[in-house]
Amino acid sequence: MDRLTDAWQHLQDRIAAACKASGRAPASVQLLAVSKTFPAEQVAAVAALGQRDFGENYVQEGVDKIAALSHLPGMVWHCIGPLQSNKTRLVAEHFDWVHSVDRLKIAQRLSEQRPAHLPPMQVCLQVNIDGGPTKAGVTPADALALAQAVLALPRMVLRGLMTIPEPVVLFEAQLAVHQQAKHLFDELQSALALPHFDTLSMGMSADLEAAVQAGSTMVRVGTALFGSR
Ligand SMILES: *Cc1c(COP(=O)(O)O)cnc(C)c1O
Repeated sequence: MDRLTDAWQHLQDRIAAACKASGRAPASVQLLAVSKTFPAEQVAAVAALGQRDFGENYVQEGVDKIAALSHLPGMVWHCIGPLQSNKTRLVAEHFDWVHSVDRLKIAQRLSEQRPAHLPPMQVCLQVNIDGGPTKAGVTPADALALAQAVLALPRMVLRGLMTIPEPVVLFEAQLAVHQQAKHLFDELQSALALPHFDTLSMGMSADLEAAVQAGSTMVRVGTALFGSR
């Protein structure tokens, strides 16, 4: 087996084991393959294994790969990196999902700039769940108000929340933070009562087991699949 096939299989096994350990159906957790810094050829190799959802952090790098791989059917591209106003048009024109919306101004621009021939943008709100020093993400206290404002935008479908907690080593500590995110997700889900609010994007290479146990529906994995950057 080549390296990517091997890594892919190992990752599927990790996700399946994490689901089993918490009594969840394996199909309840989606894998988002984070391909930032890796070339289009490696994305194509992972796509050949059946993966369709890919995450990119840097807008221009993502747009270049989307163009290079436009011949592959059914690819779903997720923008997961920080968003600046001057990059929203490229995101709106090329990506299917964006996970990193943390303020209304960005959401408004994405909605306005979403081309009419494309389906609405699928959106997760990034929440700063642990008050991490990077300061990206809406505060948990402001998440509901932002969600309600995003709901009013015509070219977006609000799908859920995304978190990037500060790295911690111990499983119990990882779990505690992911459980806070799950709690907020549940609160918003019942407050908003939307059929499509179904995505909790959390967990990465180092903490996906804790994220799955807490209720993640989408783990974003780079290193454990493509290798270290
Ligand atoms: C890079 C990145 C990931 C993947 O992280 P790994 O530790 O390499 O699995 C997930 N989410 C975001 C937002 C990232 O920037």
